[in-house]
Amino acid sequence: MNHVVVIGAGLSGIACARALQAAGVPVRLIDKGRGIGGRMATRRTAVAGKTITFDHGAQYLAQSEDAAAIAALGKGAVDAWHLGDGTSRIVGVPGMAALPRALANGLDVTLNTRVTRVRARCGLFQIDTDAGKTAASHVVITVPAPQLAPILGETHPLVQRASDVVMRPCLTLMAAFNRDTPAPFVTRRDQNALLTWIAQNDTKPGRSTAFQTWVAQANPDWSAANIDADRSDTKRLMVDLLCSELGVVSAELCHAGLQVWRYGLVDTPLSKSFLKDGMLWAGGDWCLGAKVQDAWRSGVDIAANVLHTLGSPLSAKA
Ligand SMILES: Cc1cc2nc3c(=O)[nH]c(=O)nc-3n(C[C@H](O)[C@H](O)[C@H](O)COP(=O)(O)OP(=O)(O)OC[C@H]3O[C@@H](n4cnc5c(N)ncnc54)[C@H](O)[C@@H]3O)c2cc1C
Repeated sequence: MNHVVVIGAGLSGIACARALQAAGVPVRLIDKGRGIGGRMATRRTAVAGKTITFDHGAQYLAQSEDAAAIAALGKGAVDAWHLGDGTSRIVGVPGMAALPRALANGLDVTLNTRVTRVRARCGLFQIDTDAGKTAASHVVITVPAPQLAPILGETHPLVQRASDVVMRPCLTLMAAFNRDTPAPFVTRRDQNALLTWIAQNDTKPGRSTAFQTWVAQANPDWSAANIDADRSDTKRLMVDLLCSELGVVSAELCHAGLQVWRYGLVDTPLSKSFLKDGMLWAGGDWCLGAKVQDAWRSGVDIAANVLHTLGSPLSAKA
């Protein structure tokens, strides 16, 4: 039997598991994904025999005290991304996913395993997964708020209490052009445009420069309206929009990929750092905001509460 099982190995789950492990509590992370990091992700792909990468989820950590503290824990896997306007952001190197990987070093993580159900049984929790069953005395769930219901059931108190949280989709285009294609800017943000965020991915430190790579995010309304549309049509439309923004012809395009984040960005958070029901906790970025730092804070606060519940003398330090 596991002492604590944390479902979700994104930044929130990692923060929680690190603090519990540091306090000597046995903890196991379970994630359905192929890699660690959740929405802080990096896609690798081969184009003309060269491997290129795209940060198709979180783009960076905005400079702040909290971000600097997270970066210090992931030393060796972060660097500064200079935007050419005198400002910089913190990024994972060689890709954003390197940071959660470094932060999860030494943790017990089971990947490729989807949790299908968590239910209380005889003072414990039974955790059903697509790879079998396990049990734990304490369970922390850090999946996006709308994904709590399939695990706990629609009528569960935590699902009810998370029901006011709004998370919005984000369709994300990954595009590669020939190296010498003119690049008019490094990043561009325009909340009123259909492509609200465009960034030249290969200007981040440590990325392959074999191609000119771009990431473009569609605005939440357009993403919601097109989430179930034919993916190749959506991709083609986004490529055309990107080419027009960059002032290049689509003949320069060497590769295009589309990522659908159904629960990508927090629109309305819970405004408290976690939910609790007995020995069951739920958290993630959706508790406090839309950023990596919000996910981290939620995970740290859950760990402190778990330790408090366990009566650990380390609870104050978590
Ligand atoms: C396109 C995009 C751009 C963004 N840009 C930025 C940015 O520039 N800066 C910034 O600070 N933030 C950004 N964010 C937000 C940031 O990525 C998130 O705030 C943060 O990564 C959330 O971490 P989390 O641990 O709360 O959730 P997640 O990272 O979503 O982790 C949850 C984990 O739970 C797993 N999971 C879900 N269901 C199950 C199940 N049934 N069984 C097992 N595992 C399960 C998932 O696989 C996932 O790994 C962006 C997000 C997106 C989508």
